[in-house]
Amino acid sequence: MEIAPFDNREGFIWMNGEFIKWNDAKCHVITQGLHYASAVFEGERAYKGKIFKSEEHTKRLFRSAEIVGIKIPYSQSQINEAKDELIKKMNFEDCYVRPIAWRGSQQMGISTAKSDINVAIAVWNDWASYFKIEDRKAGLRLITSPWKRPSPDTAPCEAKASGPYVICTMSKEFAEEKGYHDALMLDYRGYVAEGTGANIFFIKGKEIHTPIPDCFLNGITRQTVIEMVKEQGFNITERHIKPEEISNFDEAFLTGTAAEITPIQSIDDIKFNTGDNTQNFKFMQDYHEIVRS
Ligand code: PMP
Repeated sequence: MEIAPFDNREGFIWMNGEFIKWNDAKCHVITQGLHYASAVFEGERAYKGKIFKSEEHTKRLFRSAEIVGIKIPYSQSQINEAKDELIKKMNFEDCYVRPIAWRGSQQMGISTAKSDINVAIAVWNDWASYFKIEDRKAGLRLITSPWKRPSPDTAPCEAKASGPYVICTMSKEFAEEKGYHDALMLDYRGYVAEGTGANIFFIKGKEIHTPIPDCFLNGITRQTVIEMVKEQGFNITERHIKPEEISNFDEAFLTGTAAEITPIQSIDDIKFNTGDNTQNFKFMQDYHEIVRS
């Protein structure tokens, strides 16, 4: 499906307390958030008109904002209501939801003392999947990125903040230029961290291992999947995983709001099992049920 350009669409965007036409939701080129990456955002999904874990996402948005010093001039319930109302106004059932808060254009410079705070919410329904459906079924091919997740005293790892995403976009570009779907990022210590927009899990029989989120986002999907696999009787271990251990696992998959559960076919030269008879394929279906229930 051809995706319409994001800067020319029908419908509405919620911006600074009002619903305005999608094409009128603009900001000035002199925007503090654009120049210095003073912005925090969320990525959420609605299924059958209802956002999965809407309140948790709003909580994380406010926590991210607090970490980078952005004071959101709305309450969490105002944001929750705005999201729901926008989905109704857009007549969407299944869609992606993107709230963002940023320092605006009234003040230029690194000092944030006098900057204005803006908040907007956009929704779109043409990210049926973050990765193409045929790629998800076959499993993704990943390459290890030369860019590392920084230590928690170097970047605000717990915040979904725009600044650190340059590491993700550079890693993604590195992978795509070489013909891969995504990159595996290691952390500053050399441990396996995550994908460029999703967390990572490894499977061997009833054992599931996933890195400790001590320098990257502890994804809401990651937490949902941990609960799901525990309930199914799997042993889940959160630990530091070295890249040389990856080849011991039979299967691997990514988790994220946009990626949902997406199997991995290979990381560099290491191959994993994929297809209808694999555990990760079953998990994909189970997750599908959870978010729609
Ligand atoms: N890591 C990164 C870098 C991400 O962008 C995302 C997506 N928000 C995740 C992990 C997964 O987070 P969640 O499951 O909350 O979407």
